[in-house]
Amino acid sequence: MSESESASAQWRVLNLPLGLDEDESVLLGRAAERAGLSPEEVRGLRIGHKALDARKRGRPRFVVHVDLALDAKIEDWGSDAFRRALGSGQVARRTAPASLAWAAPHASLQGARVVVVGSGPAGLLAALALARSGVAVDVLDRGPALRERGRALARFIGSGELDPEANLLFGEGGAGTYSDGKIYTRVDHPLEAPILDELVACGAPAEIAYDARAHIGTDRLHTVLPRLRGRMEALGVKFHWGTRVEGWVWAEGAGGRRVRALRTSAGEVACDAVFLAAGHSARDTLEALAAEGLALAATPFQFGVRIEHPQSLIDGGRFGDPGLAARLGPAYYGLASRAGAGSPAAHSFCMCPGGQIVAAVNQPGLLCTNGMSNSRHSSPYANAALVTTVGPDETGPGVFAGMDWRERLERSCFEAGGGDFAAPAQRAPDFLAGRASESVGPCSYKRGIRPGRIDQLLPERVRGALARALAHFDKRIPGYAGSEALLVGIESRSSAAIRMPRDPESRRAAGFENLYPIGEGAGYAGGIMSAAIDGARSAHALLERGL
Ligand SMILES: Cc1cc2nc3c(=O)[nH]c(=O)nc-3n(C[C@H](O)[C@H](O)[C@H](O)COP(=O)(O)OP(=O)(O)OC[C@H]3O[C@@H](n4cnc5c(N)ncnc54)[C@H](O)[C@@H]3O)c2cc1C
Repeated sequence: MSESESASAQWRVLNLPLGLDEDESVLLGRAAERAGLSPEEVRGLRIGHKALDARKRGRPRFVVHVDLALDAKIEDWGSDAFRRALGSGQVARRTAPASLAWAAPHASLQGARVVVVGSGPAGLLAALALARSGVAVDVLDRGPALRERGRALARFIGSGELDPEANLLFGEGGAGTYSDGKIYTRVDHPLEAPILDELVACGAPAEIAYDARAHIGTDRLHTVLPRLRGRMEALGVKFHWGTRVEGWVWAEGAGGRRVRALRTSAGEVACDAVFLAAGHSARDTLEALAAEGLALAATPFQFGVRIEHPQSLIDGGRFGDPGLAARLGPAYYGLASRAGAGSPAAHSFCMCPGGQIVAAVNQPGLLCTNGMSNSRHSSPYANAALVTTVGPDETGPGVFAGMDWRERLERSCFEAGGGDFAAPAQRAPDFLAGRASESVGPCSYKRGIRPGRIDQLLPERVRGALARALAHFDKRIPGYAGSEALLVGIESRSSAAIRMPRDPESRRAAGFENLYPIGEGAGYAGGIMSAAIDGARSAHALLERGL
């Protein structure tokens, strides 16, 4: 849309069908008709959201939401048909995208220095929003910059030698740097558009702006992240790698404590405000800060296993015709099973088509799995988390009880794999029957797999929920629980086990005047985009209210 068009009112026409072979140009007529308008009344059109609907096996199609620019006074002069479309919910007014920069930052921020702890999506987007608004920002991360992080991971895959400061969770870009780079979210927030624009400006594909299954892929993330860093450095942001925050120096302020400086592995860093974006696995940091007055609360978290199938099995199950994968790309799934028969609900999560299973740990002696993929989704395997929710009923009371519980099971998983970061694996029918698998593999997990009793590793309530889900999902995708399905390791870090309570308006930590807990580790996000939005929103709270 042109600038003058985008100055007019924005409307979204929902759920337009588009055949696999149809040209997108048909959408103008279809959208106008659905909205009760003539095509001439449409000033501009953009695809806002495009999803593959594969529910009817063998007859997939796209479902598209189209954003229209219409005369700003359309509501006054629009036809009855337009008003009817509006009333029926087929057409909806769009909230204008927000800007990352805050137009008039609070005067108290003049000359202020803000420190962001953690260079994951929450920390990066908080820092970017602040820097775009003219605030000086330092980003500290305990892990290394990308290149060195890559070397540490290659060492780990080759030798099983885990560096606690440079791994799949710690280092430039945070936990999502080696991931599928899925960036769609169920949160419809006006900050999503400028964040996607920023990623596109850094080299992400333009389709992420509307693709319902938008993903970047690990290979591409590795070109996007250095460009993002370069753009942020050009705005004055300073990055400090290998700098672990270990505590803080605070003073009593009028409305609570004020953090004056951070104690780090590289010395003391003075600050006027702190954004804490340390992710969900920095237990040492949480313990140190809790000992110095940071309020923490236990929260229920996701727990289960990784499951892997041949991608062709998923393609066949979703598309009916496995040949369609060559046209549409490898099939994706998202499945859920309700609670019942004494078992809690369970669902698939973080599905990586054409991906590989990875070890997402930062502590030696512990093992948990996760998934990643490259931009082309080109491996022959499909993996996903299969998880349920666990809380104090399982883990017991206490702020760190969830983390203790999780680590106990991760240690058992590490030992069941043989103690060298190979992962225990069990075929789905053996898991369901409660017997050992005679052989396992092949599998995408690069440290290798060994037969293991995943059914015995899991607490009974979790095992029951996953068994029920497997039986249910097998009806949706034939073979899902068949002998080609492998359960690999445990998946225990899909979400945070601890939350940092904060004021909903100011977004400051309880009891602190200038401390902003953000992102997944603070309990306010569950993925790359939601963490990024959370970081940017908290930056806006500071920019609006000041120090
Ligand atoms: C393998 C894998 C695949 C994933 N795939 C996806 C996906 O496809 N899509 C999706 O939406 N989500 C995915 N996720 C989840 C997603 O990565 C996280 O939700 C997201 O990264 C959380 O962002 P964050 O900024 O809150 O924290 P993190 O990304 O965890 O970043 C925290 C950062 O803080 C640093 N840090 C920790 N402690 C300290 C300290 N004391 N001092 C200084 N620095 C510190 C760490 O080094 C780290 O860089 C995946 C996660 C993993 C592990």
